[in-house]
Amino acid sequence: GDFPIELDTLVIGSGPGGYVAAIRAAQLGQKVAVAERGEMGGVCLNVGCIPSKALINAGHRVEHAKHSDDMGIKADNVTVDFSKVQEWKSGIVKKLTTGVQGLLKGNKAEIIRGEAYFVNENTVRIMDEKSSQTYTFKNCIIATGSRPIEIPGFKWSDRVISSTGALALQEVPKKMVVIGGGYIGMELGTAFANFGTEITVLEGSKQILPGFEKQMSQVVSKRLKKKGNVEIFTEALAKGVEETKDGVTVTAEIKGETKTFEADYVLVTVGRRPNTEELGLEQVGIEMTERGLIKIDKQAQTSVKGIYAIGDIVEGPALAHKASYEGKIAAEAISGHPSEIDYLAIPAVVFTDPELATVGYDEKSAKEAGFDVKASKFPFAANGRALSMNETDGFMKLITRKEDGLLLGAQIAGGNASDMIAELGLAIEAGMTAEDIAMTIHAHPTFGEISMEAAEVALGSPIHIV
Ligand code: FAD
Repeated sequence: GDFPIELDTLVIGSGPGGYVAAIRAAQLGQKVAVAERGEMGGVCLNVGCIPSKALINAGHRVEHAKHSDDMGIKADNVTVDFSKVQEWKSGIVKKLTTGVQGLLKGNKAEIIRGEAYFVNENTVRIMDEKSSQTYTFKNCIIATGSRPIEIPGFKWSDRVISSTGALALQEVPKKMVVIGGGYIGMELGTAFANFGTEITVLEGSKQILPGFEKQMSQVVSKRLKKKGNVEIFTEALAKGVEETKDGVTVTAEIKGETKTFEADYVLVTVGRRPNTEELGLEQVGIEMTERGLIKIDKQAQTSVKGIYAIGDIVEGPALAHKASYEGKIAAEAISGHPSEIDYLAIPAVVFTDPELATVGYDEKSAKEAGFDVKASKFPFAANGRALSMNETDGFMKLITRKEDGLLLGAQIAGGNASDMIAELGLAIEAGMTAEDIAMTIHAHPTFGEISMEAAEVALGSPIHIV
């Protein structure tokens, strides 16, 4: 029997949802603790966004070193010491996870190591191997995140790996089959392709990156095919895997035909499942969706008063910045601020070659929402900076309201899309029109000029295309 420790706010999980919520709640004067059963920083910092972007960037360096012949650059004997790449990547992860702990401490938010389990609607028990302690709280923010989905016939092993396994590989595989052409599979597949791995992608739907417009997905698939070591099969159903002495044989049904693929590894990236089952939520009676996600309102509050939920365990895109955004809203709401979630300008980025980025409405969703819209496109090939960077594939598309040019959304397929999308998110948040963007002076020569030019297309008078 222990005496419960009293808290204002308990946060469960220290990913980009949880640690941000804890810091903001502490800044607003709450007595806060964060429970974490695994590594500080959650999926994003340890086995998600950060390590994947590190490997992707290292892959780009290899690709650029090997393939800059059109610029007159030839490099022989480009070698990769992959364990050194991994060491560099781990160093970045370490720096950030240590940083998160420092930030929490600096804001006087306590870190509790252990697994949290609900006893009732204002009590949680937190356990590690050695001890167990009960905490009571006025408010709780659940931010327990998600884990990779295992599919029937593909049990995790040394050879059947998830994104976590792929990020930890100590050598560059000769061949890898990627099941699932969503953003995680395509990002990791591209990174390893750039390191020299032969990649076979098996995607169930009609295109890779099925969440994106066909024209955008095509920019990526064309570039992947150009690499020469990537094969993409769509409408492909992975059936099973057999482990051989030093690899795997994957069976798939592709457009009705059975095919087998030999590889060193099979990477399964078919989606993620919310960590909501082992939390004791049934003790509290929180309402869930059919998919096992927690239902929340505009303040991120669940059906139980005082219990909030954020990040991958609630509806919407499973992205780090969405988790952090919801975390800030929840912390502010708990502290009595009138904050409310507005998903309109949440960007989504895919770090493939080239990158994809979207924010706000696309043409279809804008029409469905009842807007009379105009779509205006500008190609990267007509931008001086893109030419000088050898990044001419792709386009930007702006979606504006016909009557007044109000910016409703933007889609970018092209180099630097990940950074360019920020300007358009800001423009949407600020209620700007195509004219506002076109009248903003953008430095020359930059990728940023593409926004200005696409806005000029919307106004009917672009300078650099006819
Ligand atoms: P998580 O980051 O999953 O953190 C949840 C934490 O809760 C974990 O640390 C877990 O140990 C802890 N926990 C769970 N249950 C308990 C319990 N009972 N008690 C105590 N602690 C518990 N998103 C982007 O925006 N950009 C990207 O580029 C990007 N790249 C990605 C690449 C990969 C390979 C993957 C897998 C994901 C990527 N994501 C990316 C998605 C991003 O990582 C997630 O959306 C984000 O981490 C979700 O944050 P979260 O706070 O909801 O949960």
